Amino acid sequence: MRISAIVLAAGAGRRFRSTAGKRFKLLKAFYPLKSRPMFLYSLDILSASKEICEIILAVPSQWVGRIRRRFLGKKYSPKVSAVVRGGKARTDSCQSAFKRLDPKSTHVLIHDAARPLLSSKALAKLVSVAKKYDGAILGKRVVPTIKQTDRSRSIKLTVSRENMWEAETPQIFKRGLLEKAFAQYKKNPAPILDDAALCEPLGAKIKIVENPTPNVKITTFSDLRLAEKILANGASERWGIGFDVHRLVPNRKFMLGGVRITGKFGALGHSDGDALLHAVTDALLGAAGLGDIGDWFPDTNKRYRGVPSSIFLKRALRSVKELGLAPVHLDTIVHLERPKLKQFKEKIRSRLASLLSMRKSQVNIKAKTHEGLGSIGKAKAVAAEAVITLGMENG
Ligand code: MG
Repeated sequence: MRISAIVLAAGAGRRFRSTAGKRFKLLKAFYPLKSRPMFLYSLDILSASKEICEIILAVPSQWVGRIRRRFLGKKYSPKVSAVVRGGKARTDSCQSAFKRLDPKSTHVLIHDAARPLLSSKALAKLVSVAKKYDGAILGKRVVPTIKQTDRSRSIKLTVSRENMWEAETPQIFKRGLLEKAFAQYKKNPAPILDDAALCEPLGAKIKIVENPTPNVKITTFSDLRLAEKILANGASERWGIGFDVHRLVPNRKFMLGGVRITGKFGALGHSDGDALLHAVTDALLGAAGLGDIGDWFPDTNKRYRGVPSSIFLKRALRSVKELGLAPVHLDTIVHLERPKLKQFKEKIRSRLASLLSMRKSQVNIKAKTHEGLGSIGKAKAVAAEAVITLGMENG
């Protein structure tokens, strides 16, 4: 299965604009949600899925240039392969994105950029169901009692909730099915409510996958506030601690936090001996309940001899994200007599932030000497401690 994802960010956001008042200056999907543009949350989740090979973003025509410059092939979202001009109607945007699909992709996933809370768990479930059918969409059982009225709001009918679902995105379809659906639409371009509705008349077998996680569609400004609250709730779910110590010896490279430290000594170790990255990796694994670095990357394994420790951290981060979690804060202490860490601190901070897909402001480095006491004080060893906080993956 090879999925091309289409992320729709071309909506005018009229209701959002009217409820946001003067605050609204941006396109809705680019409005900051906890100080990050809303659409980046979806891009993160989609990018992390191994089945998704590319992401095509549909935005209003006046935004295409700006978004291309900022987000195409950049560190934010390496899987974005194209930014296309969206149309007035949802299906028009989908069609213009469809033209740019990777010829090898077998399935197409369509997602609203205005649903930033999509969880990787829900996405993984959707993808696995989509393998067995013509298509699959996320949804929730209808819980409220639904009344149908006439125009004067007189109740005509209480609708049975049985087998009633609220449709969400993402929605995944076989590529050929969507192609046929678009051809039908061309003949009769009636407005449709979602992408499944386009495929349903073709007799396709499309399943609903129940999504237990919040997947709010940001329509009004208060939806944005609600999403912020949901993100904040997940922010301090789990903590993990990590510690590591390495001997300092001559003629070894000295790596700390993925940064080369210049000096006479380097850290002895099976890998590159990066005590700080090992401590952070352990903290990450610990917070997610995934054991420790020795379980994952034993120093008896020749594969890890001399490797950069960033590969351990990246691997651990991937597993943490698969659990629907992501780091929201990291604090560290490096115990080192010399060289003085001061000149390297900012560089280490940036490097750790980038390795963990965090902002620099979420990462802190503290350095301590041991006043000449013990092996660290005598500059025979370096030690590092880390405390990491994990929140829900979108946090
Ligand atoms: Mg170590």
